[in-house]
Amino acid sequence: MRMNGEELQLLNEAISDLEKGFSNLPDFESHVDMERLRPVLLEVAEKMRDNYPYFHPLYAGQMMKPPHPIARLAYMLALYVNPNNHALDGGRASSYMEKEAVAAIARMFGWETHMGHLCGGGTMANMEALWVAGALNPGKLVVASQQAHYTHERITHVLKIPYRSVPVDTTARMDLNALEDVLKHKDVGMVVATIGTTATGSVDPLGEILALKERYHFRVHADAAYGGYFILAENLSDETKKAYQHLEEVDSIAIDPHKHGLQPYGCGCILFKDPAIGKLYTHDSPYTYFSSGEMHLGEISLECSRPGASAVALWATQRLLPLKKGGELAEGLEEARKAALVLYERLSADTRFITAFPPELDILVYAPKAGSVSEISALSRKFFEKAADNNLHLALVTLPVSFFEASLEGVKRDEKTVTCLRSCLMKPEHLDWIKNIYRILVKTRKEL
Ligand SMILES: *Cc1c(COP(=O)(O)O)cnc(C)c1O
Repeated sequence: MRMNGEELQLLNEAISDLEKGFSNLPDFESHVDMERLRPVLLEVAEKMRDNYPYFHPLYAGQMMKPPHPIARLAYMLALYVNPNNHALDGGRASSYMEKEAVAAIARMFGWETHMGHLCGGGTMANMEALWVAGALNPGKLVVASQQAHYTHERITHVLKIPYRSVPVDTTARMDLNALEDVLKHKDVGMVVATIGTTATGSVDPLGEILALKERYHFRVHADAAYGGYFILAENLSDETKKAYQHLEEVDSIAIDPHKHGLQPYGCGCILFKDPAIGKLYTHDSPYTYFSSGEMHLGEISLECSRPGASAVALWATQRLLPLKKGGELAEGLEEARKAALVLYERLSADTRFITAFPPELDILVYAPKAGSVSEISALSRKFFEKAADNNLHLALVTLPVSFFEASLEGVKRDEKTVTCLRSCLMKPEHLDWIKNIYRILVKTRKEL
């Protein structure tokens, strides 16, 4: 993970190359006092030790994936200019790169035309989709599943859009009967289908939701912030694959390049299928858009100033790793899913653990087995701490007990929810480390 000397040398070389574009300018001195910088930077280094080792394969907890070296280098290179993708005045090259990179993501979903842009992350991306839903269907309900990201409920509250969550089935996917029940009785403006839930990586039945759209007429937004890139993976179950095949038909998609797209944080993306959505964003700012008659990204996004460096990093990453099936990025996703499946098989065959349904993507939830659900929850919390002492870093999540139905034989159900362990096995190295991870899980179980 460390930036090696060769990477820094390449960065230096690229900076010299970039400087050539400005060589006609008169020289000016900008003094950097290294003597004063040094102690501060070293103090920062010491402070930053207070983190989990997100870059290491033994970090198998939250959705953390280190950026690709090309993304880090391109980002740092772009900081030489520090462009602002709000407007072409603030960053010409990086704005063009953003348009190209976003169009490539749209094509990954099968869209030859679209309206879209980068943004701070999945929250902002979803917010724009919710805002559009409210603008096109004022007063109508937005519906998502109980396992949808909590941001939908919170942001609809901010936007004053009525919101309703519907139950999920025992595989954490939206319950279609429950959805239809709401559709029959309420005026629904948009249904949010989560394509890869944050807790368990479950994929809502998109084909069936779209079939209901035919009958009840509502917009469909796919929250694919986490799971979107898995459209490139060829080792998904048939059922999951089917949902991905329908992504082309939705009205909008949120996807986070900073989750599975190998980008530093601050890179989300919102896509609308209908380019005409752009006109909802119109405003008549007197000052930002002087430099050209061309479309500025600021005219089609709610955020104003945005890091052009994010677009540069994403463009460079997609240049190196094109978004195509069978490519290196796709292989990495397939390995992540395989890692989750391999660990699932080991843990579900081991009577010392309980597991939920098989993972659809690369997130696995499991827990140490005990006599009752409340004991399992207490043991999971202890397990989380003990595993960390053994250098294995996991995450905790509280889920409905029904997700674990198949492995709860003889367990007293004294609670409706259970706190369990959660591992996002999203790094390319995870597959090779599964044996090791399993060994530490077993060791930790014995120590409880
Ligand atoms: C992560 C996530 C979000 C929120 O995205 P941020 O980038 O954290 O703002 C929304 N929806 C889903 C499904 C997510 O996984």
